[in-house]
Amino acid sequence: MKAEDFPKDLQSHLIPSPAGRLIYRCLGCGQRYGIETLLYTCPDCGQVLLLEDPVFERLKEIPGSTWQRIFDYRKMLNVPALQGIYRYHEFIGPVMPLDSVVYLGEGHTPIIESNARLQEKAGARIFFKNDGQNPSASFKDRGMASALSYIQYLLRQGYAEDILAVCASTGDTSASAALYASFLYPRVKSAVLLPHKKVTPQQLSQPLGSGAAVFEIPGVFDDCMKVVEALSENYHVALLNSKNAWRILGQESYSYEIAQYFEYDLADTVVVLPIGNAGNITAVINGFLKFYETGIIGTLPKIIGVQSEHANPVYRYYLEPDPGKRHFEPVHVQSSVAQAAMIGNPVSMPRVIHLVEKYNRLAGRQRVYVSEVSEQDIMDWYLTANRNGHVICTHGGECLAGLVAAERRGLIEPNERAVLDSTAHALKFSGFQEMYFANSFPPEYEVRPNPELINAPSLVRPADLKAVPEPGRPLSGEPLEAFVARISEEIAQILDLKKVST
Ligand SMILES: *Cc1c(COP(=O)(O)O)cnc(C)c1O
Ligand SMILES: [Zn+2]
Repeated sequence: MKAEDFPKDLQSHLIPSPAGRLIYRCLGCGQRYGIETLLYTCPDCGQVLLLEDPVFERLKEIPGSTWQRIFDYRKMLNVPALQGIYRYHEFIGPVMPLDSVVYLGEGHTPIIESNARLQEKAGARIFFKNDGQNPSASFKDRGMASALSYIQYLLRQGYAEDILAVCASTGDTSASAALYASFLYPRVKSAVLLPHKKVTPQQLSQPLGSGAAVFEIPGVFDDCMKVVEALSENYHVALLNSKNAWRILGQESYSYEIAQYFEYDLADTVVVLPIGNAGNITAVINGFLKFYETGIIGTLPKIIGVQSEHANPVYRYYLEPDPGKRHFEPVHVQSSVAQAAMIGNPVSMPRVIHLVEKYNRLAGRQRVYVSEVSEQDIMDWYLTANRNGHVICTHGGECLAGLVAAERRGLIEPNERAVLDSTAHALKFSGFQEMYFANSFPPEYEVRPNPELINAPSLVRPADLKAVPEPGRPLSGEPLEAFVARISEEIAQILDLKKVST
């Protein structure tokens, strides 16, 4: 649909042009910095930063109901730059000219209500938001679209000549960074650092396929992160980890999409997501806050962050009910099937502490909780969901397990609906499914398969068959007939099929 066909009062809002301002604000000392240079931490005190619009108040001059209509009508526009996360341009990156936007098909992932059988098992009304349906098959593309649009903006403004983008990764950040960087090749090149043998083969293949320089490093993610931080402090590189506040901005789109999907009514809604480096929960909280402050949503939804027992520093932090006595202590992680969240020292922890406090304060009651789950529960719920029509990853399973754990603690009301984040596609983590089915998990995972969930292929090769086809050597005539008859007989027997009466 063309802009002139839209309601008159909205026409001037449909195609946004650069407006407002963005600055980095330090969460430690409060210092502010311009965005002409890429900053990750405060040059004064070393704390993490958030990007803020110092003239955000102007967005409140437009009524929340008008914003709702703007976003709803933008859905019908055929403008590529507004088809992804920048549908919410004024909230995601108001300074961004649309011709700097990198759009590779990210965002607007489906929200799928589970079937009655799974809802009954889980004891709640549940929906999965399939962020594995993003271009590199994880939610990281939301933040990467924002970070690489900003890089393209810097290049076009002449603030930089060319850029080497680097990141440490539990697998998905590097897949996404390499994909988006390759779109801007050769002015942007990428290098990614992965913990050796701690990413899945699919995740390793992704940055390789995008042409990134790929480095495997001994240790776990937290070790890779230290190396990348040293690189970004001592050399001219652009850090693409979620320490980069542009990543957070883009990931806020997740909240906006949930709001829009539910017609901006988030009363009785619970949003459940896994926590690793805590960039995602930071973004989701900040996104809901911005929509709340501008009257686009009237209620702040309940948020439940989930961590595995094997990587639970955020859960441990919030165990202490008295905020004055809380003390953050990084943990040493153990092997986890929620491998992308296997992080003991989340870089966004100061952002989480800051935003959770604000969220609960504005809501006038506690609205953010953290659940802890076992590796066993993650695997069992992951496989169970996928046996009921879903394509969720282990982290989606972690969300479902976390919701069930929250129910047991009495945190979920019967009238509430839960939106669970399947942060990546099931296929990225199929190795864990294989280990479960083959009962071959190394002992440190502490996972035992439930026989009811195991599945395996059956090889049908009757011993009495004289000839079977092989690639390049097909059968024909009588041997082919014998082959088809004998194999189908065998399958019918295994499946206990009834013969059609002739
Ligand atoms: C990165 C990632 C997470 C963890 O998100 P954080 O922002 O690091 O908390 C969870 N699941 C998947 C699939 C991821 O790629
Ligand atoms: Zn500072």
